[in-house]
Amino acid sequence: MIIFGTKFWAWGSALTQAIWTCSKCGFRGQFIEKKGMTFITLYWIIPVVPVSGIKQLAQCPQCKTRYQNNTPGGGASGSQPPISDPWS
Ligand SMILES: [Zn+2]
Repeated sequence: MIIFGTKFWAWGSALTQAIWTCSKCGFRGQFIEKKGMTFITLYWIIPVVPVSGIKQLAQCPQCKTRYQNNTPGGGASGSQPPISDPWS
């Protein structure tokens, strides 16, 4: 029996240029830049087919909340993090 599922993978560990404030824990500073993709998996662990394009994410180093990063470098320090949409 073959079991299919989907899984979101994220990788990368560079720091963002911009200073952001986490809307969840209040951390202020550089976030961790990540790229992520959703895959269809076999048995939950074997990626087979990517089902989305690469997404740019920014992750709070303190509480690990991920934000979708649609506006990289979008302005001076103090710019807001992207829309709060943590993956669960
Ligand atoms: Zn946080």
